[in-house]
Amino acid sequence: MHLLILGGTREARELSTWAVSQGMDVLTSLAGRVSNPALPAGEVRIGGFGGVDGLAEFIESEGIGAVVDATHPFAERISANAASATAIAGVPLIHLHRPAWQPGPQDRWISVPSMAAAADASRNYPRVFLTIGRQQLGAFTRQPAEHSGEPTASHDQHTHYLIRCVEAPNPQDVPLGAEVILSRGPFSVAGERALLEAHGIQALVTKNSGGALTEAKLHAAAELGIDVIMVERAPLPEGPHISVVEGVANAAQLLSALR
Ligand code: NAP
Repeated sequence: MHLLILGGTREARELSTWAVSQGMDVLTSLAGRVSNPALPAGEVRIGGFGGVDGLAEFIESEGIGAVVDATHPFAERISANAASATAIAGVPLIHLHRPAWQPGPQDRWISVPSMAAAADASRNYPRVFLTIGRQQLGAFTRQPAEHSGEPTASHDQHTHYLIRCVEAPNPQDVPLGAEVILSRGPFSVAGERALLEAHGIQALVTKNSGGALTEAKLHAAAELGIDVIMVERAPLPEGPHISVVEGVANAAQLLSALR
């Protein structure tokens, strides 16, 4: 079976390692967002396909027998494209779903539907920690009424932002006076707690990515009684050819059955 894994996550790398060990012909696709990506086992290609039609053509011309969408839960466009392209190409799609985090009794979450709403909510706090990656930082440089317009730097910003991301953000996306920390993790609860305390943080903003890798910040925030502005996800892709599975082991089982 010639398998295409849409990757960029730890789960994608784990699945490619398994599939290669089973003798499958595995091609992982990465978007090319980071300069030094962790490479999966098997073949790798980097860069976009050119939308739904480009991906459908790729699947057909490469003789792909099945696609696994193991992208990040907030990589919503490629997931939607994968759902449409596999329908066009007539191949099965396995969507490897990472369950969202759920709030516990100690958690103080403010759930919001978008980054623009998170930016609005963040302005209620003097000192805010942004752990949202770098691509959507622009939402925080705009004033509330400007979300539908062109981004402009805010000159009467009262909220001070601490930003943590893996690679340096585009300077025009960084709110005035913000402090940027570059770090890939992993992060411990004790370390996250120390960071929140050292910077006098009152709220943190995160996407509801789920998974154990980046959840230490949530435990630290709960321990300190800090509010978490949680950006929630879009609905899962649907279609008769789509199987949604949780966990690499379940995806592997399904792939074994498809062979
Ligand atoms: P996105 O907004 O869903 O996708 C935008 C475009 O990037 C897609 O239309 C596609 O271009 C291209 N693309 C995305 N993922 C690709 C892949 N695996 N292989 C080839 N092309 C891809 O994606 P994103 O949120 O920017 O995420 C990009 C990548 O980073 C994903 O692979 C994801 O797993 C990883 N990632 C994302 C996040 C996050 O928070 N969003 C966090 C960690 C890792 P074309 O239309 O030209 O095909």
